[in-house]
Formats: sequence, C-alpha cells, structure tokens
Amino acid sequence: MVRIRTDLETFAPYVPGKQPGDGQWIKLNTNEASACPPGALAALSELGPEGLFRYPDPTAMPLRRELSDHYGLTPEQVVVGNGSDEILSLLIRAVCDPGAEVLAPDPAYSLYPVLAAAQGASYRAVPCLGDFALDLDSMCAARPAITFITTPNNPAGTSYPARQIARICASGHNLVVVDEAYAEFAESNALGLLGEYPNLAIARTFSKAYGLAGARVGYLLGPAGLCRTLLAIKDAYNVSAAAQAAARAALRDRAWAQAMWRAVRSRRTRLITGLAAIPGLQPHPSQANFVLVDCGPHNALRLLEQLAARKILVRHLGHVRGAENALRITVGEDAEIERLLRELSDICRAG
Ligand code: PMP
Repeated sequence: MVRIRTDLETFAPYVPGKQPGDGQWIKLNTNEASACPPGALAALSELGPEGLFRYPDPTAMPLRRELSDHYGLTPEQVVVGNGSDEILSLLIRAVCDPGAEVLAPDPAYSLYPVLAAAQGASYRAVPCLGDFALDLDSMCAARPAITFITTPNNPAGTSYPARQIARICASGHNLVVVDEAYAEFAESNALGLLGEYPNLAIARTFSKAYGLAGARVGYLLGPAGLCRTLLAIKDAYNVSAAAQAAARAALRDRAWAQAMWRAVRSRRTRLITGLAAIPGLQPHPSQANFVLVDCGPHNALRLLEQLAARKILVRHLGHVRGAENALRITVGEDAEIERLLRELSDICRAG
C-alpha cells in the first residue's frame, strides 16, 4: 500500500463552485465574467501550431514585461502563475517551514487553509469585527510567516483601505500578501504601498476582471528577491502558451476591460437595490463583482435549492463565519440579474 503523509489522511480539500458545463444555467456562483475580450480570442486563433508543439516561454517574460510596464515596476518584480491560486501556493511554499503560521482574517478566501495544510503549516484565522472589519490589533500582534488579506474580501465584498494594510505591514509581519483578485471592481487598492513596504506583495488575476478564468493566469507584484524564489520553485512551464497569449491580448485591450468594470459596478448597484427590496433579504455593501446577501428569516440553503430548480446557480458558504445563512451572488448580465430578482422574490414571497 502507498504510504501517504499522515497529516494528509484526513485532508479537507478546497470545494470549488459547480461548473455544470452546459449553457442552460444562469451561472452566478463562481464570480466569473460573462464574456472575454475579443482580442484574447483572436490571439488564440493566431497562436499557430508552434503554440501547441513547442513549450511555452518558461518565465512568461513578454507578459511579465507588459505587466511591469502597466504597473510601473520591473519584470523582476512580477511572477506569472497558473491562476493566482498557484501564486498563493508558491508563496506559502516559499516562506513556510513545517509548522510555520499562516494568518488571515476570518472570513477570507477559503483556499488559504487548504494550501497551509498541504504545506504542513498551521493556520490561524482572526475573526473579523462587525461588518467584516479587520481586527487590526489582533492581526498586528501576531508573528506569522505569511499574512493574507483578501480585499475586496471574498465572500463579504468589503474592501479594506490601504492605510489598514500599511499598518499590518509596518507591524513587523514577515510577508503580507494582499489578494486583490477583485480589486479592479473596487474604488481602492494597495498598489501605492508597493514601493513603501519591502514585506508587501500583491496577487492579482486575469480570471475576473479580464474574463479569462478558463485560461488560468494570475500574477504576483512584489519584491524582486521574493519573485526570484517563486520563479525558482515553480514548475518549469507553469503557464501555457495559449494562456500567455490570451493574457497579453486582454491586458492590451484596455477599453474592453474598463467598460466591463464600469458595467459590473453599475449592475452591482442594481443587484443590491433589487435584493434589498425583497422582504427579509439584506445585501452587504460590495466592492467586488459579487454580493453577499444575508437571507434573514429565509433558509439560505433552501433558497439556493429553489433557485437551482429554476436553473439559477448561486453559492452558499454555510461554513464561513458571518455567511452561515447567506448567499453569494455574482453580478451577472442585466437580464440575468432581473431574472434572479424575479425568481428570488417569488420564492421568498411564497415562504
Ligand atoms: N483569490 C480570491 C480571493 C479568489 O476568490 C480567487 C478565485 N476563486 C482566487 C484568488 C483565484 O483566482 P484564479 O486562480 O482564478 O486566478
């Protein structure tokens, strides 16, 4: 029999949202965009046979150059990964000895404890205060190997101001990773702090704000020394040629991306207003491309099931602090939002 690490025998994996794989569903459960940039599709069709029979650029240098130009950094301060999930995993591997502490607020992106456990690191979740505010005093007092701050928070949608991130960086933490998977939909971000704090890194992704979740491209912006280590320990060809080409095209199509971010922000307002108008439902404010709605007197799981019976997928995160009886709903297209609101209103009124 194969001997498995004993600490992995009862390993609880990350549970991804359902991907039904047919176009029959209104899919509002995994915070994807509802389209991709036309330039990215064109780049795929222009890839040619070499895009398949040759290995890709191992360090994605052309994309790193374009990203570093975009952010006013050097390519040495950028690492590209197979989704930002890979970047988060590499970061833990880079700084966590067995037993080292991974720190994050609670709630936060539910992949962090899974990655920590896979590395044999310990995970400490610091409960958020009211309205999903960070407990800065408790966080600053900790001495973890790595600290993750998801902002905007997933699943809450709350965005944390740069001065709060700065306070954590200044409190002597080893490495503070700001996970900005949804930052393009928000009013603020931590980019301005990069030059100021040598222990700060920012993880971003093409999955949400650039409509490329299927391509799997994420990246880290951070200190060159840390980036060098991530490049050294990553798989040699971690990002496919197709993914690199799609991401470069998406980054260049500024007009498409910015129009999409504007549309998401205005549809988010419509979604929040519509949800608030349904008796019993209380949407939280959101700076992301999803809204967390507290279901009050209604049972969130039953609402999810009744929506699924109408071919609408949303996410219930019952194990997440502060979201026990809530649904997380992606900001879809106008028609999808109207249909969701209609169905949800019918279901709630029927009791
Ligand atoms: N961070 C957060 C907060 C997320 O919600 C997600 C998407 N589930 C990711 C990172 C990972 O995104 P990707 O791997 O698609 O880049």
